[in-house]
Amino acid sequence: MIVAKQKPIAEIKEMLRPYQKVLILGCGTCVKTCFAGGEDEAATLGAALRLAFGQESKSIETEELTVERQCEDAFIQEAAQAVARNEAVLSLACGAGVQAMARRFAKSVLLPGVNTTFIGVLEKPGLFTEECSGCGDCDLDTFGGICPVTRCSKRLMNGPCGGSKNGKCEVSPDIDCAWQLIIDRLTALGLQGNLKRYIPAKDWRPSLAGGPRRLLREDHVI
Ligand code: SF4
Ligand code: SF4
Repeated sequence: MIVAKQKPIAEIKEMLRPYQKVLILGCGTCVKTCFAGGEDEAATLGAALRLAFGQESKSIETEELTVERQCEDAFIQEAAQAVARNEAVLSLACGAGVQAMARRFAKSVLLPGVNTTFIGVLEKPGLFTEECSGCGDCDLDTFGGICPVTRCSKRLMNGPCGGSKNGKCEVSPDIDCAWQLIIDRLTALGLQGNLKRYIPAKDWRPSLAGGPRRLLREDHVI
């Protein structure tokens, strides 16, 4: 999932200061799962903003609504009337959702309510960890299902670097050494041979380094 974190309320307040009527638009998929921007967060944020502006004697009306996904036009459509009723939209979706909304509602002010952080997993209740950098050329088969591009602090493709201690990365004792994990897993799977392969320098062109990416599925084009 895409993991995001709600912006500090002081930052959100400054963005909203010029407006009297604001739609707080939650997104019901990734940001809901990571407690950044679903129905509950939209409602709580609306109440907090009304209270915070009220303490300054500034009145603000907020409307809260959550759609399933702000990155898909079919769901965005459900917000059209609410968008039209308000002066600005504070979107709690990831950056893709905010931009999809801005594209759909060209005359509306779209503001980001969360900081989009990474592609990750829920490792345990309350802890989300980054697992994929969207490099565009997945090599997880070679590495036993553990991504050194994302999880090795130095992004080493032919690791380890030699700095790990007790299975932890030399960058921080809170980070597992990705290469220790890779070695342990390949060994457990009887695939140690993978460790003898030289992995050539990564071609970063399929990644963001090659510019904004597009994926065209011609079989789905109508
Ligand atoms: S190799 Fe690339 S696509 Fe695969 S998990 Fe790592 S960053 Fe993601
Ligand atoms: S200690 Fe492990 S995870 Fe950290 S930089 Fe070195 S190889 Fe990568």
